[in-house]
Amino acid sequence: MKSKQDIIQKIEQILPQTQCRRCGFADCAAYAKALAYRTTQANLCLVGGDSVARQIAEIADLPVYQTIADETKFIIRIDEDGCIACTKCLTACPVHAISGAAKLMHTVIENECTGCGLCLPVCPTDCMQAIEVKDKFLPRNRFLSSHKNPQQAAAEHARLRYQQTQIFRQPEHQHNTQTPVNMTQLLQQAAQHSKKRIATQSDALRQQALQQQKEHSHQRNLRRKKQYGLAE
Ligand code: SF4
Ligand code: SF4
Ligand code: SF4
Repeated sequence: MKSKQDIIQKIEQILPQTQCRRCGFADCAAYAKALAYRTTQANLCLVGGDSVARQIAEIADLPVYQTIADETKFIIRIDEDGCIACTKCLTACPVHAISGAAKLMHTVIENECTGCGLCLPVCPTDCMQAIEVKDKFLPRNRFLSSHKNPQQAAAEHARLRYQQTQIFRQPEHQHNTQTPVNMTQLLQQAAQHSKKRIATQSDALRQQALQQQKEHSHQRNLRRKKQYGLAE
């Protein structure tokens, strides 16, 4: 007879390990544990879709009441003109797939992105875009895993990065990273940065880009003011 620990381990190997929390659990490990103790359903991992639900049902000896459709995968890109380097996305990313620091423009390390989407709602300037990709399994980087099977390799790589990220974020590993962020100053810097970029383009393109940039900034400011309840 399989022990609970064996079942948890087997389920963890097939869950996508994006840590997206869409199953209603704090992370993939919490869902795997609940499955092993048969206190939840086998078809809650929307990222894994139907095939993962069926594999879980077999391992945990649970029924699959309803099948779920396989979703298109996506990764995130940051529009650098809109980034005000607030670090909110960096903190939200469970697998440390975003590089940047306070007051420095942020970039997604695309090969590490699992498409969990946790960074999207926290961005105050709405400058992150979800780009659809054809990959069946994410992240694309799998070198932390020894598995040959791409599903398990992707899952293990993401799980190990998640664990490393959790360790790195423990208080004893943080040294002066809590620099207070001045949003107004950062917005001004972002506008200056955009102007510099635009100045390198030809005259006609420059006018067009300036106009678009003004409209973008205006819309961004409106969204930000609405979000934070700031007066016009
Ligand atoms: S990948 Fe699946 S199991 Fe993991 S947190 Fe997301 S929905 Fe839950
Ligand atoms: S960058 Fe990718 S992995 Fe990180 S939070 Fe955003 S969607 Fe998730
Ligand atoms: S949350 Fe948005 S504005 Fe803030 S650092 Fe990330 S991409 Fe830049």
